[in-house]
Amino acid sequence: MKRLFFWFLLTVSLSAKVTVAVSIAAEEYLAKRVGGDLVEVFTLSPKNSSSHQYEPKMADMKLISRADLYLACGVEFERSWLKRFASNAPKMRIVHLDRKIERSAERKFDTHIWFSTENMRLMAEETVRALMIADPANSAIYLQNGSKTINEIDQVKKYIDGKLNGYRGRIFLTDHPAFGFFADEFGLRQLSIEIDHHEPKPRDIQAIIKVAKEKNIKTIFAEKNMAHKIADTIADAIGAKVVELELVSSDWANQMIDIADSFERAFDESN
Ligand SMILES: [Zn+2]
Repeated sequence: MKRLFFWFLLTVSLSAKVTVAVSIAAEEYLAKRVGGDLVEVFTLSPKNSSSHQYEPKMADMKLISRADLYLACGVEFERSWLKRFASNAPKMRIVHLDRKIERSAERKFDTHIWFSTENMRLMAEETVRALMIADPANSAIYLQNGSKTINEIDQVKKYIDGKLNGYRGRIFLTDHPAFGFFADEFGLRQLSIEIDHHEPKPRDIQAIIKVAKEKNIKTIFAEKNMAHKIADTIADAIGAKVVELELVSSDWANQMIDIADSFERAFDESN
């Protein structure tokens, strides 16, 4: 009898966690913050690497096959893989965290939604809803964790507003166009070296150099762990430096704070 009870406890505690698969690191932040100890989170697209070229591996498919929930967010690989995930794991619920995000024509195909705190707020709300449906018994905890998460997101917004409010209307130069949503939210203008994920043509480079000189741009942002040869060339041509930023981190709040600090420094130096 005792042994039976022990096995009962063991099975309950093993099956109690909700297994959540997510596409990218920013969703990992949300799932872990909202889910706490009640969830086990598996992130497909590896950290410190871009989600744009990511393709799931056999090992990923195995992990997905035992997931209860998949949190999608509109990144490239989902387009061809979500259907396969669904047939591989028929009981897994797929929830689109980006469901309520509004997109302007310019941002229609921009996958970098996590650089907007307003988008993250909507995604946090969807995460709460998804976990409450997956595990109704713990709804109160998800609601409570969710409001703490939203509070943290709001604090990040406040911090960035405080840092960048004085630079509204300013233009920044980036190797990779990751900051469209960020620019929209904080009243900035993004100038990107890469155009639609392609290298610029020589005449595009000339145009960028011209604007950068006019605006006295002294910083070019680039993604950490990624090659940025053209950015280096342009930096040499205009006497600027390349500043590498972490763009794929599950420590979302600190990542955003670092970005805001770097932007403030860049605007400050180009005065
Ligand atoms: Zn990107």
